[in-house]
Amino acid sequence: MDIGRTLPADLSAGLFEATTRAVSDGVIQLDDTGRIVSFNASAERILGRSAAGTIGSDFSGLLYKAGAPVPQQGCMRLVLRDGNGGAVRVTARCEEMEHGRVVAFSPEQRLEEIEQLKTELVSTVSHELKTPLAAIKAYTATLRQNPALYETHRDEFLGVVEQQADRLSRLIDDMLLVSRVEAAQLLRQRVVMPVDGILDDAVREGGANPSSHPIERDTAGVRISGDPERLSDIFRNVIENAVKYSPAGGTIRITAREENAQTVIEIADCGIGIAEEHLPYIFDRFYRVEAHDAGEISGSGLGLYIVNSLVRAHGGSIDVRSAPGTGTTFTLRFPLR
Ligand code: ADP
Repeated sequence: MDIGRTLPADLSAGLFEATTRAVSDGVIQLDDTGRIVSFNASAERILGRSAAGTIGSDFSGLLYKAGAPVPQQGCMRLVLRDGNGGAVRVTARCEEMEHGRVVAFSPEQRLEEIEQLKTELVSTVSHELKTPLAAIKAYTATLRQNPALYETHRDEFLGVVEQQADRLSRLIDDMLLVSRVEAAQLLRQRVVMPVDGILDDAVREGGANPSSHPIERDTAGVRISGDPERLSDIFRNVIENAVKYSPAGGTIRITAREENAQTVIEIADCGIGIAEEHLPYIFDRFYRVEAHDAGEISGSGLGLYIVNSLVRAHGGSIDVRSAPGTGTTFTLRFPLR
């Protein structure tokens, strides 16, 4: 769509709305200073934001990465921030007008994404399923064929088998949760409860071992509202990552507080961190940061996708701050109602 030609520079809000209502692209009009003066219905739909709540604010506030340059004339890919603070990748076209600019955008090609998802599903998940299975098979066969080993190494070998079976079972849990997420069958109930009990389960199931990753907690007396099982899935995944992406000895700090009718929980590790360019994508399905210094760390790339979907289903939000080599902090907010 050539917006430069179809829209005059000083379009009134009513005319803008009429012209762009039927357009499936999001269309945002900016004034000379970069403030949003119009926001069409498709922009509302794609970004999950209301025009009323967005008009008047600065366009730079819509950019996922704070401080990213505001688009200039031409075509580009942008990462925008939706109404829940999540990242939406779009293909955008910006046209300079006499008094400001117009940015038209659509979500990045869905078909391309689906093809890529299929390839990644086959390669990532089948690798993730095969590796523990191969280990289980090798260890049991070795024990069976070597009676002497059975006497001396039984506990060690069975320990590995158990650990790999747990890994398989977590992966299968995650895959089942993903299909739930896709079908939007997420919350079965909503109750207000102490956050401590939920965190106890999550710490246990997230594989945290106090001798390798001490956990500091400041969460007593804080309440949370939600579906206990799903909340436990959320924290299990975040804690599992904090353990996985931290060297042995790294402390994990969990704090919780009630603030403005919200429960705010922070989970901080002193691990390998995430480089800034990866941050907008870590909540995407199957997204994994390649080439970790820590060598091969297993994972499906599903965990944070599930976490983000479940947090949103609770009406909450999740933010991440990270610095490579220093650590990562996830901040989760849940309405307390
Ligand atoms: P995975 O199964 O790969 O752990 P996730 O969806 O849980 O998948 O996380 C996506 C990516 O985000 C990970 O591959 C990892 O690169 C990065 N990541 C998530 N949590 C952390 C963390 N606490 N520290 C460092 N990197 C992390």
